[in-house]
Amino acid sequence: MSAQFLSVNAKKHEGWLDWRWQLRNRIQSVDELYEYVNLTADEKQNIHMASDVFPMAITPYYASLINKADPQCPIRLQCIPDYRELIEGQSDMDDPLNEDSDSPVPGLTHRYPDRVLLLVTNECSMYCRHCTRKRKVGDNNTSIMDRDINQGIDYIKKHPEIRDVLLSGGDPLILPNACLERILRKVREIPHVQVIRIGTRVPVVMPQRITPELARMIKRYHPVWINTHFNHPREFTPDSIRALARLADAGIPLGNQTVLLRGINDCPMIIKKLVHLLVKSRVRPYYLYQCDLSRGIEHFRTPVAKGIEIMESLIGHTSGFCVPTYVVDAPGGGGKIPVLPNYQLSMTNTKTVLRNYEGVICVYDEPKNADFVCPPACAICKDHNIRHESVGLEELFDPQKQVISLVPEGNLRKARYTVRESKAHGY
Ligand SMILES: *Cc1c(COP(=O)(O)O)cnc(C)c1O
Ligand code: SF4
Repeated sequence: MSAQFLSVNAKKHEGWLDWRWQLRNRIQSVDELYEYVNLTADEKQNIHMASDVFPMAITPYYASLINKADPQCPIRLQCIPDYRELIEGQSDMDDPLNEDSDSPVPGLTHRYPDRVLLLVTNECSMYCRHCTRKRKVGDNNTSIMDRDINQGIDYIKKHPEIRDVLLSGGDPLILPNACLERILRKVREIPHVQVIRIGTRVPVVMPQRITPELARMIKRYHPVWINTHFNHPREFTPDSIRALARLADAGIPLGNQTVLLRGINDCPMIIKKLVHLLVKSRVRPYYLYQCDLSRGIEHFRTPVAKGIEIMESLIGHTSGFCVPTYVVDAPGGGGKIPVLPNYQLSMTNTKTVLRNYEGVICVYDEPKNADFVCPPACAICKDHNIRHESVGLEELFDPQKQVISLVPEGNLRKARYTVRESKAHGY
């Protein structure tokens, strides 16, 4: 159905509450936008150009949240294409997180020791303009087949160290219940998988999808955790609030991942309001992401300093469970690195000097003789899923290993003395 069939007040349409209607009636061309935003001829041209490269799709529900009169509306900026997506940024990368090289089988990323990301679709109900997987999302040439998902599930079966499986995409909740249930059942059947997680933006952009049937179905595969993706207080509506309540009432622990976006939410007050609305809806703010170096999203990036400023304004100033962890997902597959303001000012053997959120400087007296001795009856480290080989910095602390330094690959000084040593030995 195209836009001319929508009533001017689209909300009155009888299909409005049906997620399939929302999906079928997604706005995919400039001409369908007239009901929701005022556009100049130039702006229309820009949208055409940008959506040729990165497709546009907006649910009528999300579009109805746009403030027509505000060209900087935070809802508008997240869903309507912009010519700046076509500007090549100096540090842009196609795969900044190295997800492809960390993929042992198509559609599965095994980056961290005990958990994997399983991509179950490339489709989303809406295409976020700031999406870090822009090059894949909505691209029919890289669509995910049942065969890929099955290969991913086989991989998980063969790796007993995987205790947490994160279903992602695209948006897993765009799949019909039966299809999603098939995947959940297969993953749940794997004995070593303790937790299943779903990453979804559906509660924000198509809350109608969160039906009582969906919540009941997911509940059968507990423990299932859901992480959603609210970026702005304006995304809280009676519809999205009801969707969150349904999930929470089904006993699903809810988290939220926000992306820090220039011109949309890069302000301590906006984020504070956002986290307060989240916890009111029983959603724990989980991560605040620094914007990635993906192609076409440079105009959304803020300096890392902005994130620090926001954390400074949250920690101590509001409830601890309102505060997300601010992370930079490091380019080159470095993974998520948490970044915090500095609270530790100085240290001696006997004292640690700290400052609090108000700037008060305090001293903590260290205990004497605090050597660690294993409690005699404790055997937790015998559990092979808990104990692991020390890696990276841990090696420096590992008494078994006696590692005294970690040297980056290709270190020049090291190369020089290796050559010198070889010469001295007459090789
Ligand atoms: C973010 C991410 C995870 C999950 O990380 P948590 O910190 O456990 O939420 C897992 N795998 C990949 C590849 C990721 O990017
Ligand atoms: S919902 Fe997620 S994966 Fe889909 S377009 Fe938005 S950010 Fe990208």
